[in-house]
Formats: sequence, structure tokens, C-alpha cells
Amino acid sequence: MNERVIATNITKSFRSTKALNDVSFSVNEGELFGFIGPDGAGKSTLFRILTTVMNADSGDALVDGFHLKDEIAIRSRVGYMPGKFSLYHDLSVQENLEFFAKVFGTTVQENYSIIKEIYVQLEPFKDRRAGKLSGGMKQKLALCCALIHKPRVLFLDEPTTGVDPVSRVEFWEMLSRLKQSGLTILVSTPYMDEASRCDRVALIQKGRILDIDPPGVIIKKFPLHVIAVKSENMQKLRKDILKVEDAESVYGFGEFLHITMKKENSSTEKIETLLKQQGHQHTEVKIIEAGIEDCFMHLMENN
Ligand code: ADP
Repeated sequence: MNERVIATNITKSFRSTKALNDVSFSVNEGELFGFIGPDGAGKSTLFRILTTVMNADSGDALVDGFHLKDEIAIRSRVGYMPGKFSLYHDLSVQENLEFFAKVFGTTVQENYSIIKEIYVQLEPFKDRRAGKLSGGMKQKLALCCALIHKPRVLFLDEPTTGVDPVSRVEFWEMLSRLKQSGLTILVSTPYMDEASRCDRVALIQKGRILDIDPPGVIIKKFPLHVIAVKSENMQKLRKDILKVEDAESVYGFGEFLHITMKKENSSTEKIETLLKQQGHQHTEVKIIEAGIEDCFMHLMENN
């Protein structure tokens, strides 16, 4: 397998905050690789280091075959879409694109085929200032700008944060299509449900990678039962549920609470009895198949 990114023992601190703690992983050519983690997990810091915007305290990486110290080589080979809006608000759609092409010594015409499919949606607004675009449109333009110099590795830092659900789905579909062209894509997101869109995911928390695997494998190796519980009084349920013996973790999930328990200890009867004793009505208690969010919540609570 051809590895496009190999990170080895990357560590970075900001004063007393260890933003990245001994982070190692590798990403294969043509892979869509996701970093999933809450705010402050270290995702942006990792992407800044791998795109040479920031130096690591220790550790190194090979990005498309170049060490981090080869900044110029890496910068010409990667596309980077930072979390915060990266475009020039006062420039038009077309001007932004031309600017980014020029910075990298190319032209929009030369690489138009790479962005064509995305850009056609922007074309009707090509004279509009970037600052006046909708969230979904800004995100598409930022993606075009990150692609216009034909990078071999694309870093997208939380591209779907603050974007409406329809645009989120569309964005992931665009990434799947880009991946088909052989582009290697590293994408970060705080949304656990987006894990299933990736070939492999790394779960990151407090600067540490807790697990790396394809989403299906993470679900398969989950060792616990998940019991979904609902009651008329969810506020009281949250307190009462803590009395369940053998619960490994409890967290809210849509209209249910999810309780994880070791398979040998899991019993819906025990929970039903407890709820009855506590006076709950209209309850629902059922063992369900673990989803990727259950695996992540469990890993995060136990690390
Ligand atoms: P994420 O992208 O997952 O939200 P970040 O990489 O932005 O996480 O942040 C990781 C940690 O490092 C957080 O505690 C954050 O406050 C801290 N941090 C990030 N950048 C800086 C900085 N420039 N100065 C000080 N602390 C920072």
C-alpha cells in the first residue's frame, strides 16, 4: 500500500496545554481518512502541523514523501481548507479562485477539470463577493480554492461545521467523488455520524488517538451491549438511570438514553424493574445494535 501521509510521534504543547500527545498514524493513497473528535481535541493543530503552517515540538511526518522540514515541497503538494473561513470576503467568487491559482503559479484554466463539477454550481454567482455567499456555497468555493493547484493530499479541517444538513450530505458526496480520482483526503469533524462516510477514522480526544480503523470494524469489535431507554420524564430518568448496577456508561442519544453494559450483565428486566420502582411511565427499554457513536462515546468516557 502506498502511504501518502505517515505521522510519527507528533507532540505539540501551548504552554500547559498538550494539544497533541505522541500522535502516530498513516494514510494510504486515495484514502478518505477522518479525524473525529470534540472541540479542543487537537484536530486543527494536527492539520496545521501536517500542512507546515505550524511546527511540532517533536515528532515528524512524511507528507507525499517529504519530511515536515521540506515546507515548500509539502505546501505545493497539499490542499488545505482551514476550519475558519479562508476566503477573501471582498473578492468575488472568480477573483478568489484566480488568486489561489496565482499563488501556486498556475491558472484556473489549467486545472479547471479538477474543480469543474463543483464550480458549475458556483458559476451563476461568479461575480458575487465571497462574503455574500451562503454557508454551503462558501464551503464549495473554499474547496475549489484548495484544489485549484491540483494537490495530491487534501486537508479539510471541519468543513461541515455550521453547514446545513443538506449541504453536509452534498459535501460528503463531493468528497467521495474526489476520492475516485485518486486524491488522498484527510478530513476532520466533530460529528460522529460522519464517520461512516470515511474509509478509516481516527478517534481523537485531548491530543491522543484512541482508535484507528474502518468504521465497520470499530462497530464489530465493540464488546458491549447497548440498551436504549426512554421515559415520559427524561430529566428524572437521567438521575435514576445512574442507579443501574453494571452500567459502563450512560449518555443521551436523540430521544433515548443509551446505557452500555457488559454482555453477561446486560438485562432489560433489571432496568424495567428499576424504572417501575422509581415511578416512571410510558417507558421503552430495548437492546439495540451499537452504532459508531456508541463506540466513540464509550471510548471517550473510558479514556
Ligand atoms: P480542535 O481542532 O480539535 O478543536 P485544536 O487543535 O484547535 O482542537 O486545539 C487543541 C488544544 O490546543 C485546545 O485546548 C486549544 O485551546 C489549544 N490551542 C490550539 N491552538 C492554540 C494556540 N494557538 N494557542 C494556545 N492554545 C491553543
